[in-house]
Amino acid sequence: METWVSELRNMVNTLERLREFIRVSPEEEAAISTLKTKWGTTPYFASLMDPDDPNCPIRRQVIPSLKEKENRYGIPNYLVWKENRATEEVRPDCIARQYHDRIAFTVTDTCANYCRHCFRKELVVDRDLQLRFDWEEGLEWIREHEEIRDVLVTGGDPFILPDERIGYIITRLREIPHIEMIRFGTRTPVVLPDRITEGLKNVLKGYHRIPLWVNTQFNHPKEITEKSARAVYELLTCGVNVGNQAVLLKGINDDVETFRKLHQKLLSIRVRPYYVFYCEPAPGIDHFRTPVEKGAELIRDGIRGFTTGLAQPMYVIATNIGKIPLMPDYYIMEKNETEYTLRNYEGRYTKIPNIPE
Ligand code: SF4
Repeated sequence: METWVSELRNMVNTLERLREFIRVSPEEEAAISTLKTKWGTTPYFASLMDPDDPNCPIRRQVIPSLKEKENRYGIPNYLVWKENRATEEVRPDCIARQYHDRIAFTVTDTCANYCRHCFRKELVVDRDLQLRFDWEEGLEWIREHEEIRDVLVTGGDPFILPDERIGYIITRLREIPHIEMIRFGTRTPVVLPDRITEGLKNVLKGYHRIPLWVNTQFNHPKEITEKSARAVYELLTCGVNVGNQAVLLKGINDDVETFRKLHQKLLSIRVRPYYVFYCEPAPGIDHFRTPVEKGAELIRDGIRGFTTGLAQPMYVIATNIGKIPLMPDYYIMEKNETEYTLRNYEGRYTKIPNIPE
C-alpha cells in the first residue's frame, strides 16, 4: 500500500490515537468528547504537534475547541452567501461563481486534515451543508459557458482523490476549448506530503497547452519540513506552479516574527507566497479572527523592506463579490500639483514629481 493511502487509513481522529502523539489537555478532551464535528489529521501532521503545548499552532489547526460553539460574528449559511448559491443563475452544486471568467469546481468534501479554521466548515467539517458532487453535470456546465477561461478544482481536497480520478478531471477540462488554465487548491503538500507520488506526477507532468497551478496553504513556519519541501519540489518538476494561500489566524501567525519567517521559509522551498486571506466570517471560527487591518500591518511591519518582493503576498478579504485587496494605507502621505510625498516601511519620507496627465 502506498504511504499516503496508509496515512489516510490511519488518520488521527480519536482521543486514543491523539494520545499517542500529545498530552491531551482537559479543554481539548472536552471539545473532542462533546462537539459533533468531523476532525482528524494524518499521522505525519500529528507528528509535528508539540506534545506539551496546547497553543501549538499545529494543535490549534487540528484539534476541535469548545470555542467553536460560540458564534457572535459568523454569517449563518456562510457558504451559500459567499459562493452566491442563492442567486438567479442556476448552477450545479459543484460550481461556485464570483467572477465572469472563472469558477470553483468542487469535486469532493474529503480532506487529509479537517482544519478548524476552514471557511467551508459547514460543508467539510460540520456537514450541515450537503452538496451533490456530480462531476459530469459540472463539466457540462463549464463546456456550455464559453466565458469560463479558468477553473479552480477544489473541495475538500481534490488531491485526496485517486490518481486516475484526478487525471480524468484534468483530461476532461483540457478538452474544453475555452479553458486556458486549471488550478488545484490542495493542502496535501502541508499535511500529507507523501501524496506527491510518481503516479500522481505522471498525471500532472509534461508540457501542456493548458498549464496547471497548485495553490496550497502553509500557515506556520513549523509546517515547512524536509518532507513538505520535497513534495513542493516534486510538483515543480512536473511543470506545475506552486503558490501559497495562507490564512491569517489569531495566535498562530498574526505576529511579525512568525509572519515574516513563514514567508521567508516559503521562498526557501520554492513556494511563491500568493495570498494571505483574512479569516472569513464563517460560523464557529470567531476565535481565529483578527481585526481586518492586521494582515496589511503584518505585511508592512514584517515583510516590506525585510525580504525580497517575491515573498510579498497580496492580503485579501474573500467575499461574495470577490476578493478585496487591502494594502497598508501609508505609502502616499501627501500629493499636490507638483509632487508626491511617500513613506517607506521604516517611516522615512521621500518625494517624487507628480507628472500631469
Ligand atoms: S484542507 Fe482546505 S477544505 Fe479541507 S478543511 Fe482544510 S482548509 Fe478546509
